[in-house]
Amino acid sequence: MAPRRGEGVSLGEIRWLLREFNIRPRKSLGQNFLVSDVLLRAIAAAAEIDEKDTILEIGAGLGTLTRALAERAHRVIALEIDERLLPPLRQVLQDYPNVEIVQGDILKIDLAQLLAGRGEGPKEVNYKVVANLPYYITSHLLRHLLENPLKPRLLVVTVQREVAERLVAGPGQMSILSVSVQFYGRPRIVARAPARAFYPSPKVASAVVRIDVYAEPPAELDDVEAFFSLVRAGFAQRRKYLKNSLPQGLGLSVHQVTSALGRAGIEESLRPQALSVGDWARLYRELAPKLR
Ligand code: SAM
Repeated sequence: MAPRRGEGVSLGEIRWLLREFNIRPRKSLGQNFLVSDVLLRAIAAAAEIDEKDTILEIGAGLGTLTRALAERAHRVIALEIDERLLPPLRQVLQDYPNVEIVQGDILKIDLAQLLAGRGEGPKEVNYKVVANLPYYITSHLLRHLLENPLKPRLLVVTVQREVAERLVAGPGQMSILSVSVQFYGRPRIVARAPARAFYPSPKVASAVVRIDVYAEPPAELDDVEAFFSLVRAGFAQRRKYLKNSLPQGLGLSVHQVTSALGRAGIEESLRPQALSVGDWARLYRELAPKLR
């Protein structure tokens, strides 16, 4: 089956492209290609793309999701690390002048330069990210994008199901990852997919998470770095009560920590998983003068 214009993805087309271009998918780069039409439509719908949108697709692979994005968006930047995938990408996307194919590593590339495009026009700051993420960089990548001054306003990312559950967790199940992401935006699971939605099938099921990024973080903090040092100190010993783990982690006395917890309205016999982003922010404000 030859590549086609328009909607849709199929196992037949993916196998044809791999054969035609003599490509063996690389596990180390998380190369599992989307073969579910249902999931493709769920991703595109969740991104609510319109003709004014600029989309950054991370890990464009064989370009089949890119094609669906290009049908809807004004501009698509299709970033792919693996040079071997550039010839099929060019072929699949040849009828889409609104797609720019860029070879590079999302963790190393200069986002401002990438978004500015072909040297025309001003810096583009209003963009969305859509990605079937290589699972090996999920947490790192989310932090990298959300902490960036040029952060996207929306992300729609396919991740391992278990990671998706951690991203959307509430108090009681929080982790450093959920605090880091929920500090910057509101994540929710918009679709679930079995492993066979990808070829070759990975070992685990996945889920699509949409993250609506806040224009301003909900908690105003004077020093975001110091805030995350506090969160990390809390999670360093996740089985311990905060009144025991924080004095050790921060070099403070038990009294300093328990009175800050009290002023922040947080029970001292809670573990870090129990705190929401708002709780951490209140605690940070109480402790900040002692952390400098
Ligand atoms: N978007 C395609 C799809 O849905 O079929 C491919 C998804 S596949 C799960 C992940 C893709 O990300 C692979 O094509 C892989 O080569 C690429 N990739 C892996 N690490 C990357 C990185 N650091 N920067 C950019 N792309 C990367």
